[in-house]
Amino acid sequence: MTQLINQTAVITGAGRGIGQAIALKLASAGADVVCVDLKAEFCDETVQKAMSLGRKAWGVAANVSDAASVESASEQILAAAGKVDILVNNAGITKDGLLMRMSEADWDAVLDINLKGTFLFTKAFVRSFLKQRSGRIINIASVIGLIGNAGQCNYGASKAGVIGFTKSSARELASRGITVNAIAPGFIETAMTAKLGQDVREALMKQIPLGSLGQPDDVADAVLFLAGPGARYITGQVISVDGGMAM
Ligand code: NAP
Repeated sequence: MTQLINQTAVITGAGRGIGQAIALKLASAGADVVCVDLKAEFCDETVQKAMSLGRKAWGVAANVSDAASVESASEQILAAAGKVDILVNNAGITKDGLLMRMSEADWDAVLDINLKGTFLFTKAFVRSFLKQRSGRIINIASVIGLIGNAGQCNYGASKAGVIGFTKSSARELASRGITVNAIAPGFIETAMTAKLGQDVREALMKQIPLGSLGQPDDVADAVLFLAGPGARYITGQVISVDGGMAM
């Protein structure tokens, strides 16, 4: 596949899980990939694998929730890459707990990384997208942002926020040829879901019409579509990759 040849993609939280799958999927379609994580070395595995696909790839350290860190990372990325074509805001965390017992710190941490992180990273690249009059921004939301989940008020609010941010920024940037879309994954097999107990998994399975957890590659395939030429005329949308959970 060569549909993304000569394009550069920036993926946050690319060290593992869904972010790693996205980076490798875009690299296999021809894109050079900038892998962002809390420490550059967390991306070593992703970078090695992307390079073995024949692409340029490198790791950059940034805490997506810290404005100064994001600014310095974006300057570094634009200086090294010359231009960025695709931004995937994927970094995210959970800090689950019942509302009554949820600490302010756990609320703030999840909102800061999942929602503010998406805002900060988008803002950091928007000027260059505006100048080049093109750009694909893909935000990783969640089925929980659409249908909610007990014990995930912070996470659900952050991901619903990502969806609102996606639609507003899509409207703001559309006239300059920049598209902004979100993907709402359901339950995907990664470190984030590995911590779920067997009973929770079985209960979850009953809510998934297709009857199994998704794989990181299922999300990456949707990102590839939104980043590619076939999605030229799509903006402000939320694509569910959830085995039918939210239908
Ligand atoms: P994961 O395996 O926990 O990976 C998350 C990645 O984000 C890690 O590489 C992590 O780095 C990085 N990260 C966390 N905080 C960061 C920060 N402040 N700055 C920069 N990077 C940071 O999670 P995942 O399952 O792949 O999830 C990826 C995205 O998909 C998240 O936005 C998540 O909410 C969303 N999602 C996942 C599921 C699912 O079922 N897995 C479902 C719906 C949505 P470290 O290695 O340093 O922690």
